[in-house]
Amino acid sequence: MQQVTPNVFTETKTRGCNPGFVVTSEGVVVIDTPQLPTQAITMRAEAEKHGPIRYLINTEHHLDHIFGNYYFKGAGTVIHHQFVYDNFMTVYPELDPFAYAEEALLDDPDGRALFPARDEYFADPNKGEIVITGDVTLHVGDHTFHLLHTPGHTPGQIAVYVPEERVVFTGDTIFAQCQTWLMTSNVDQWLAALDRIQVLDVDHVIPGHGPVTDLAYINTQRALLLEWETAVATAIAKGWTREETIARVSFAGRYPVDIGQGHMMDYIQTLNVASLYDKLTRLSATKTPAPSPIA
Ligand SMILES: [Zn+2]
Repeated sequence: MQQVTPNVFTETKTRGCNPGFVVTSEGVVVIDTPQLPTQAITMRAEAEKHGPIRYLINTEHHLDHIFGNYYFKGAGTVIHHQFVYDNFMTVYPELDPFAYAEEALLDDPDGRALFPARDEYFADPNKGEIVITGDVTLHVGDHTFHLLHTPGHTPGQIAVYVPEERVVFTGDTIFAQCQTWLMTSNVDQWLAALDRIQVLDVDHVIPGHGPVTDLAYINTQRALLLEWETAVATAIAKGWTREETIARVSFAGRYPVDIGQGHMMDYIQTLNVASLYDKLTRLSATKTPAPSPIA
């Protein structure tokens, strides 16, 4: 894992989100869990070398942030937002996050033996014991963990600000140098979330995906969200249909998809455009966009 500060570690180079942990004088706090079983088992062992795991915080409900909770049973108290709790690995007719987690074993052949049967998994996926609806501050040893409710990418989004380390884990409020997934988003809220993170006194920004960065990247993420929204709003102003807009608007050339998901590029472009189109034409009240709880 990458050591960001003396007490902060993260993993940015495997498929799934960037999970991490913070070492305190009274144990370890884990932030998001690896999606791939082998990585989850490995990170748990790595974290426990530094002391008992006290808390496990999930920053959002997308499966690449929560599926690995299964492998952290008995290791600390799980904390996440009410929206994460209510949408934890929910199976939809058009999208089954458990099946998606199983497909990803292509990138983790050794994980096959660790992968639970569906019934076994859903009997206890290790959901939150502490469920929050706003900001919460934890004190663990000498460290402070400000859990900031920063909706936008998803309604239950949390950023974890650790002032003693001058670090913030943003979750998917930031996709650093990789494709941004907009399909479960509210862009106006997301921009407000970036404003909130931008004023934190930190040196290191650990994004949900992509390499560790700094506060300057907030400007890049903000510009991308505005470009996306403007591109679709402009298409609507030109009178393009939903299908024409999906066919013509794409940011595929801007960034690669994060590790292991290159095959999702068209899916991301299509659903990003469709969700923005529906919101900007106020169709969202009558037409529910496909759920996409996978990244
Ligand atoms: Zn996400």
